[in-house]
Amino acid sequence: AKILRLILGDQLNRNHSWFQDKNEDVIYLMAEMRQETDYVIHHIQKVLAFFISMRNFAEYLDREGHQVKYFEIDEKSNPQNLEKLVQSCIDEFEIEVFEYQLPDEYRLDQQLKEICSQLKIKSKANDTEHFLTEREYLADFFKRKKTYLMESFYREMRRKFDILMDGKEPVDGKWNFDQENRSALKDKQLLRKPKTHPKSVKKLLQTIKDAQIETIGNVDPEKFTWPTSREECLEILDYFCERLLVHFGDYQDALTTWDPFLFHSRLSFAMNSKMLSPLEVVQTVEKYWEGHRDEISISQVEGFIRQIIGWREYMRGVYWAKMPDYAEMNFFGHERTLPKWFWTGKTKMKCLSESIGQSLDLAYAHHIQRLMVTGNFALLAGIHPDELDQWYLGIYIDAIEWVEITNTRGMSQFADGGIVGTKPYVSSANYIKKQGNYCDHCAYSHKEKVGEKACPFNSFYWHFYDRNRDKLEKNPRIGMAYRTWDKMKNKQEILDQAEKYLNNIDSL
Ligand code: FAD
Repeated sequence: AKILRLILGDQLNRNHSWFQDKNEDVIYLMAEMRQETDYVIHHIQKVLAFFISMRNFAEYLDREGHQVKYFEIDEKSNPQNLEKLVQSCIDEFEIEVFEYQLPDEYRLDQQLKEICSQLKIKSKANDTEHFLTEREYLADFFKRKKTYLMESFYREMRRKFDILMDGKEPVDGKWNFDQENRSALKDKQLLRKPKTHPKSVKKLLQTIKDAQIETIGNVDPEKFTWPTSREECLEILDYFCERLLVHFGDYQDALTTWDPFLFHSRLSFAMNSKMLSPLEVVQTVEKYWEGHRDEISISQVEGFIRQIIGWREYMRGVYWAKMPDYAEMNFFGHERTLPKWFWTGKTKMKCLSESIGQSLDLAYAHHIQRLMVTGNFALLAGIHPDELDQWYLGIYIDAIEWVEITNTRGMSQFADGGIVGTKPYVSSANYIKKQGNYCDHCAYSHKEKVGEKACPFNSFYWHFYDRNRDKLEKNPRIGMAYRTWDKMKNKQEILDQAEKYLNNIDSL
């Protein structure tokens, strides 16, 4: 039978069993589509990264002798949406069976089910062969539990895949070295340049402009730096092992004006597009570490591996356990719109201007910038989670809904009321000061709660706790904060200061 196999833009997995054999009767279908460029406003570098990686993948399949039908964004015959695309190819090539790989997004999952229900030919969904677990695994694992504790899921992954294990026990006797992953960076000399693959994207940039695709952010047309092929992704992985792993854990939570990447791997796009698999990434890192145990401590390696087989895999499970309801959750009932400077970086708060500025320039911010700077600010200020989802989903190179929304609504905004986290990630200026040098370069004072120079984080912090008392006071991990608040003498002054800032949020 003649088979049509659809490959989505984030399904660039060369090692998929589909590609093991060559078959004249199989046509692989890939398309750059307006449906995908327009469901949210993406960063220009994100659109470029996906299109270039997709083109490279199609070329690879072609070189390997597979038959590929590829639609570029500006092709006249490009149907620009999935229904028409699939139907027109079925007609054109007289297809008898339609196959696709399970999408990671609920939106596409629904759309593909709908398409298949309308088709007159047979259809079949295959696994992507990318993740460690199947979609429903986490929901089964936590059956009848109200909260999903990441740590127990993570330990199960360690055991199941024999990663950092010494028989039945964790290597070096401890499961989790998070306590050792919290230093601020004091020595600039330690920093390394990131491994990049600069290339010109002038022509494609023009095509995207001509197509009038709306985008945000900046790009140097002569120096696009993200990896766009499996070879490049593997080089980034090797570079991470050889140069960055040694300090990864130590400075995982550091904030600094010196460098946008620190010791982070920049591998999220490589994995989310499936050019690299999570298992090969962690196994490569573990193997490298085994050969360099005298130089690299376990806390660097465990900290990294936890993010991937722990958090990343866990977030995907939460997504499938809780969608579509998850996308509607707003535990605190927050309603405020995002300050205008989220789109420009122009604010006097140094931590935010740095974190947003680099996001616009690079389509990248590391985890603590996302969680404890932009996310923390938004939660304290009471921004509507829908607004935030749109922002995070658009701006980052790695933003795909399954991992964006669980991090944003769940981990960062506590809008799920505590499925992902046990308490909201909020802090005053104190934390940001402790983690690095942002406060040293700021127009506001991290020490002050009230007055013209007071850092907005300080009054917002108490405003947040005060206005959400009924929702948070009973949480055993938060009680302390209320006892401190109750003892404070200038409560009203602090709340007034917060109100004043909130009313002028666009000019902070
Ligand atoms: P590293 O610090 O080098 O970490 C290694 C890998 O671990 C990452 O590549 C990533 O695959 C994984 N990882 C680390 N933390 C997480 C996490 N919390 N959840 C899932 N995977 C994780 N990550 C995305 O991939 N896409 C998103 O859209 C996204 N949105 C986020 C939104 C918010 C509000 C927050 C707080 C976090 C978000 N993250 C997202 C998680 C994390 O910030 C990024 O994965 C990380 O910053 C990517 O940079 P890196 O590859 O250099 O990561």
